[in-house]
Amino acid sequence: MNRGNISWWRVLALAGMASAPVLAALAVLAVLGMLEPDAALIAGIVCAVALVAVARHLLRNIAEIAGRAREPGTGTAHADHHPGLLPEFAAAIDRANSAWEREYQQLTAQVAAAETILEGLPYPLILIDSDRYIVHATVGVTELLGTASRGADLSSVVRDPGVLAAADRILAGGDRELVEFETLFPTQSTFTVQMRKLAVSPESEAAAVLAFHDTTEIRKIHQARADFVANASHELKTPLAVLAGCIKTLQGAATDDPEAQRKFVEMMDTHIARMTRLTEDLLSLSCIEMNEMTPPGGVVNLPDLLSDVARSLQIPAAERGIDIRVESPLSLPGIRGDEEEITQLLQNLVDNAVKYSGDNSAVRIIARNSSEPLPESADGTSIEISVIDDGPGIADEHKLRLTERFYRVDAARSRELGGTGLGLAIVKHIVNRHRGRLEIESEVGRGSTFTVRLPAAETRDPADATTPS
Ligand code: ADP
Repeated sequence: MNRGNISWWRVLALAGMASAPVLAALAVLAVLGMLEPDAALIAGIVCAVALVAVARHLLRNIAEIAGRAREPGTGTAHADHHPGLLPEFAAAIDRANSAWEREYQQLTAQVAAAETILEGLPYPLILIDSDRYIVHATVGVTELLGTASRGADLSSVVRDPGVLAAADRILAGGDRELVEFETLFPTQSTFTVQMRKLAVSPESEAAAVLAFHDTTEIRKIHQARADFVANASHELKTPLAVLAGCIKTLQGAATDDPEAQRKFVEMMDTHIARMTRLTEDLLSLSCIEMNEMTPPGGVVNLPDLLSDVARSLQIPAAERGIDIRVESPLSLPGIRGDEEEITQLLQNLVDNAVKYSGDNSAVRIIARNSSEPLPESADGTSIEISVIDDGPGIADEHKLRLTERFYRVDAARSRELGGTGLGLAIVKHIVNRHRGRLEIESEVGRGSTFTVRLPAAETRDPADATTPS
């Protein structure tokens, strides 16, 4: 009802009710002869007309006051002055309006805060109603599992029967559920989903909440750790078994046989050396991994270091007629790095090249300025070191996995040559710590080239470039 739209029927009804006693009194007075009938009629008409005017005014006032009651969120009408017949009533409506508006604003802010909190949670959430239809899904759900439309059944997002059955159990009265499921598309991933029942209220559609947690990486880490422990134990098992056998033989059958004793001691020596190399490599790997997030601070002078590495492997190489050649311009700038780690990296690469190359071949170590800039380098410049051999080469299917711990193309040959299967894993972690790149080019039967690109040090002054880390 508003000011210009008052029903005349209501005006006449109100005026009629108000004038009825007066008209009745006038009629009685006229019948008893105490008032002339004409005078009674005129008085009655005047009274009725006056009451119609009063009723109309009153109803307009009420309509106007009722019009002050507003929908929350449309703003509060503030009026200090309330004219009309019912000012207290109008003031009360205005106060109620203000209170509603304040509550509405508070609720709107609380809903916005709750939505922000939901979106900010580390785990994407889906709220479902009692019929399993989606009421709300956070943005993370779309990123993780695809589109989750409001009003669609939960199965439009998660098709796993275990998850749907658990959601049904919750909606049928269960309290909480924890389910694991896998998706194959777009990539193979593992998730856990925690479900909780929500307190049902007439104001809230949501009956349960589902929180998703992508456990793919955690699973991979657990698997890698389990594989690593199994591999390391396996690597240690053989030399330990050989040592135990040798000791037993030395204590028994070979007690009086000096030739057999010499043979078994030699065997023990070989296997102890193998275990020593393995434990040294394991320790190096864990040390480098621990520091991987901290970039090295020193500057390494490459020409000197390359000569040292070549010299350290000269004897085993010369025994097989392998020639190690270093090509490195003296003007080469230093690289930003840890001298000990860069030495280990190059030793592992050159050692592999010597180990796997045929007799009477050549291994070349070439260092030069790289034409490809590295974003991690201070001025974008980088140094490239390639270790080139003309050994057996590596087939394509192995290349991507070579830097995995204990991955070998030919495990028996690697062990025979004293390999631990950890050399290239160590190389990869050192390269990562130095924010560099490792590239492997190889062709079966033609040899391999392992190239490492590392950020050049900021200074090109040879005097500075010899600073050890
Ligand atoms: P390993 O101790 O077995 O040499 P690495 O991690 O250093 O372990 O190397 C992993 C595997 O990569 C080796 O077992 C070998 O099969 C292959 N490999 C590494 N370097 C070369 C190379 N220069 N030529 C041929 N194969 C190589």
